[in-house]
Amino acid sequence: MKFADLHLHTQFSDGTFTPEELVDRAHKLGFAAIALTDHDTVEGCARAAAACAAAGMNFIAGSELTAEHGDTEVHILGYFLDTGNQILLDKIAKFQSVRQNRIREMVAALNKLGIPLKAETVFALANCKSPGRPHVARALVKEKLIGHLDEAFERYLKKGRPAWVPKTKMSALESVELIHQAGGLAVMAHPGLNRTDDIIPDLVDAGLDGIECFHTKHSTVMSERYLEIAEKYDLLVTGGSDCHGFSKKAPLIGTVKLPYEHVERLMARAAERKAKTANASK
Ligand code: AMP
Ligand code: ZN
Ligand code: FE
Ligand code: FE
Repeated sequence: MKFADLHLHTQFSDGTFTPEELVDRAHKLGFAAIALTDHDTVEGCARAAAACAAAGMNFIAGSELTAEHGDTEVHILGYFLDTGNQILLDKIAKFQSVRQNRIREMVAALNKLGIPLKAETVFALANCKSPGRPHVARALVKEKLIGHLDEAFERYLKKGRPAWVPKTKMSALESVELIHQAGGLAVMAHPGLNRTDDIIPDLVDAGLDGIECFHTKHSTVMSERYLEIAEKYDLLVTGGSDCHGFSKKAPLIGTVKLPYEHVERLMARAAERKAKTANASK
């Protein structure tokens, strides 16, 4: 049976694998297709696409956009994106600079607590345009300012802790629109993680295409719940491991295997979307 992993991160955001390393692992695990969904960037897609082509795998260019609806943070996955779409690239660049400024603010807060971390150390370690809290945590460990990554989140970085800095996010409705105008499909990521079911109807009204029913952190009961919700709202079904390489424990790739029939449905919908976008721009 053919299967796919549609939620993966690389060094272009907070994963530890290069696109080539990730594709190599996916290939060895027998995946027929993968999507790259780095946070607020599409930069790794060209290299991942080339590696997938060489390995005879299907590749979907994607991104995981950090968004909010009211006070609720929600991650919106974009799939089949035109990675050269200028409106998408401009918007992404804006939120990448928000991420970079936020790193400086987090480091300043740590300095205030007497922790001598430098923003440059975090940027050098991250070496990407979409740095985030995991990079701050890794820099703290590397500089021996803390014992473990989890401790960095527990003591300083998670919401409510002294070095937590809120992130300016795009609105979820805007992110759906942004993905659509770039020819892509918009999918709500890991709904079971933040228990944000109450916002689903609003996202559906805004044109949400799908929902991530299968995810490493979804129990079987949760996956079943979101499959029912997908059916109720006529949403496409996606799934992925949300693998970040070795950033946490063992790499998660291989733990979620989305049956390929879902990829085929996604491809059919994406083809319709692209035809519509092409017509609209005539
Ligand atoms: P950011 O985009 O900077 O807010 O960072 C979010 C990333 O941090 C996500 O990819 C999470 O996987 C990771 N993360 C969030 N909370 C924790 C935690 N308590 N421990 C480890 N990683 C976390
Ligand atoms: Zn991440
Ligand atoms: Fe996420
Ligand atoms: Fe993710």
